[in-house]
Amino acid sequence: MVLLRFAPSPTGALHLGGLRTALYNHLFAKKHGGKWILRIEDTDAARYVPTAVDGIRNALAWAGLPHDFGPGADGPHGPYFQSERLDLYHLYTRKLLESGHAYRCFCSPDKLAATREKLARTGSNATYDKSCLHLTEEEVARRVRAGERSIVRLNDDNLPDRASPTDIVFGILRDAHASLPTDPVLLKSDLFPTYHLASVVDDHEMGITHVLRGEEWLPSLPLHLDLYSCLGIKPPLFAHLPILLNPNGTKMSKRNGDVSVLDFMRRGWEPEGVLNWLALAGWGVHHENGRASPTGTSSTQPPDSTTLMTLPELIDQFDLSSLTHRRNVLDPAKLAYLNKHHLMRSWQSEQGIAFQARRVHDVVKAAFPHSLYTNVEYITRVISVLQGRITNLHDVPTLAPFFFVDLDYDLPEAHSMKRGLSADDYDHVLRRVILQLESSSPSTQSDIAIFLHDACEKTGLKSKVFMTALRHALSGMKAGPSLPEIIDVLGTERTAERLKVALS
Ligand code: GLU
Repeated sequence: MVLLRFAPSPTGALHLGGLRTALYNHLFAKKHGGKWILRIEDTDAARYVPTAVDGIRNALAWAGLPHDFGPGADGPHGPYFQSERLDLYHLYTRKLLESGHAYRCFCSPDKLAATREKLARTGSNATYDKSCLHLTEEEVARRVRAGERSIVRLNDDNLPDRASPTDIVFGILRDAHASLPTDPVLLKSDLFPTYHLASVVDDHEMGITHVLRGEEWLPSLPLHLDLYSCLGIKPPLFAHLPILLNPNGTKMSKRNGDVSVLDFMRRGWEPEGVLNWLALAGWGVHHENGRASPTGTSSTQPPDSTTLMTLPELIDQFDLSSLTHRRNVLDPAKLAYLNKHHLMRSWQSEQGIAFQARRVHDVVKAAFPHSLYTNVEYITRVISVLQGRITNLHDVPTLAPFFFVDLDYDLPEAHSMKRGLSADDYDHVLRRVILQLESSSPSTQSDIAIFLHDACEKTGLKSKVFMTALRHALSGMKAGPSLPEIIDVLGTERTAERLKVALS
């Protein structure tokens, strides 16, 4: 069985790149009938953010990516916080010390900085002069007994034969070892492991078969493979996922708040839309020029970056060999497109409409706290006439404020609509409709359309004038749902009231 892991460091909010990594782990695991672990890599005390684990878990829960094992889902691989696994890292460190693959270094941070500077001045690529490698066993034992602080380094003079590492996405990496630091640190002086040691030990101990992680860890792959061979253990397979870029080519960064997953949630994006967007950004790019297909995929044609796909469809079609190693641009316009179509899909079921109506209720309440028109049944009717126009549920208050609050005819758009109408025509249209509503109360959109046609004829005015006057009075907006739709949602009584206000 395949077993994967998503291993975030709790140093801040989960960002889009992290969610993409979790998603690909989920897709690969589920496609192959396997499972995945959520492992919290909390070995860097200085960068630890106490609220980060909850934030990461909330973001994954929102996205609908539940881990099989990890915090809150115990299993045979725990503990799932690296800070609770220190004994294991110490055990593996002892093994490496005993086999001569690692050694203790007592150099102080100041001394190390000075050494690095000196080496750089002489044009050397080395980052450490290995001075502690030559300490005698007795000397090391004496200094350890005396309580002197030390770190443990890998001895890169004593490594098994190195082959060029292979990555599933990036292929064979030539000269990959050249950029490694000299004798990389494995255990820090606070007795916490470095990322490299902890990651190798955990992936081995947990029985991970495939490591899918961000491209930023690709340079560490040769070091990790060195550790596997020093320990005489078999490495998992590795697939590094290309960096995500903003449309302007800049790197997405965690420090930049707008890439936080929970921000996308707060801004009203659908988890299905975000997952679809992230999944396809680096997938099937060879078909980038293909036509967008809002109706789903066929099994013969690989998806392009705007193919509408649900999570089960993504699982079904996921294939590591179709991932590109090119850097992937995340285009917000594609998210908008996918989000809109996921919303339209969810409105095809009563359950979907009911769920979205409750969400829109909250959005409308937040935008118009004093509105008297926020019950879920009313909002369901609003959605039924707005669907197809909504890209993001948070758009509803700006797309059609007139359904929730009284109009402000002084707004520039309302003003400009009225500019082309004569005051007499305007009054004539509104009075006619008010009068007619006193004797008839059409209750379906098609009856309303007939009613309006009749009223328009009776005014003797051009239909464009009639419609513009009415649209101004009822919505104050040029675009939006049709007049029969607006009147149907408002109801004839509220329509008549609004027309009277517009007249006054
Ligand atoms: N803890 C690393 C991070 O948050 C993940 C590294 C890995 O997946 O091996 O980026």
